[in-house]
Amino acid sequence: MEGGEILPWPAGAWQRLFAEAIARADELIEVVGGSPAAGGGPSAAAAERQFAVRVPRGLAKRIRPCDPGDPILRQVLPVAAESTTADGFTDDPVGELGAARSGGVLQKYHGRALLVVTPVCAVHCRYCFRRHFPYGDHALTGRRWADALKRIAADPTLSEVILSGGDPLTVPDDRLARLVNEIEAIPHVRRLRIHTRLPIVIPERVDEALVAWFARVSVPVVVVVHANHANEIDGDVRRALAVLRRCRATLLNQSVLLAGVNDSVDALCELSERLFEAGALPYYLHLLDRVRGAAQFEVPEAEALRLIAGVRDRMPGYLVPRLVREVAGAPSKVAVELRDEG
Ligand SMILES: *Cc1c(COP(=O)(O)O)cnc(C)c1O
Ligand code: SF4
Repeated sequence: MEGGEILPWPAGAWQRLFAEAIARADELIEVVGGSPAAGGGPSAAAAERQFAVRVPRGLAKRIRPCDPGDPILRQVLPVAAESTTADGFTDDPVGELGAARSGGVLQKYHGRALLVVTPVCAVHCRYCFRRHFPYGDHALTGRRWADALKRIAADPTLSEVILSGGDPLTVPDDRLARLVNEIEAIPHVRRLRIHTRLPIVIPERVDEALVAWFARVSVPVVVVVHANHANEIDGDVRRALAVLRRCRATLLNQSVLLAGVNDSVDALCELSERLFEAGALPYYLHLLDRVRGAAQFEVPEAEALRLIAGVRDRMPGYLVPRLVREVAGAPSKVAVELRDEG
């Protein structure tokens, strides 16, 4: 890598890229040289009304032209299948509504508090369990912010604070820097974690302004990015992740196992290889949360086990993500393992 390549982007340039994201399915189809098979029709339009299209243009450039099966396109293009109902697919599959004790803070697991910093995302992923989340009730704004900090400060068992959303990096740097300052001032908080898809979908987000506060955080920072397919990781993404590493962040990736996107041993191995080249280790491979409208993405558990066994056969242990599912009420993410038939 050339020395100049690890410089952050000029401050603020990402905001225009964020604002000018593709926001309509017909435009997305046009940009990628779509065929009618890619999407469209009244049911797809209903899906689009239910959960709006949002695709940053830089991400759209990573979509192979004229290929309705493209693994990035499939993650972001509304399709008719979203409007069909499927047994067991609900609006709140992971029980977050019950877990939200007060606005903006989710505490499901020991020692970790997750802050829903904002409802906003830079990309809308069709499989997302948050597509029905009533963010208006939970986003961390105004008084809720102060209340959330008070609750974290009052609970000495909380050693890690996770900034999540939505995507916390859609929030301007001055607000983030203030929030993080207040969090790191709480003596029992030993780690800060950021769950974000922005370094993948708008790598320009890793700019001088972000680095200015990020590099000065006094507790160790873990950044968990979210890529599902190797094609999402291009030179700009590698640069963004290199800058974060230069700020001493630990980089991990979480993926969702998605039919038609990454449900092959080859795709999963290539994703791990690309992540490693970019400086991130695979952390979790989530089974799909059974959210209404996402049934077409489901990979059956037996197939998921077969795939992860195939990855384990080919890759070093540190490049094999943990296959997990979210179970409402469970004390942690639940490992998906071969059950003993005996
Ligand atoms: C996933 C999740 C976490 C983090 O779990 P880890 O196993 O530590 O990655 C924390 N809080 C909530 C509410 C979560 O959904
Ligand atoms: S929360 Fe994550 S998975 Fe869901 S739409 Fe936003 S970026 Fe995509």
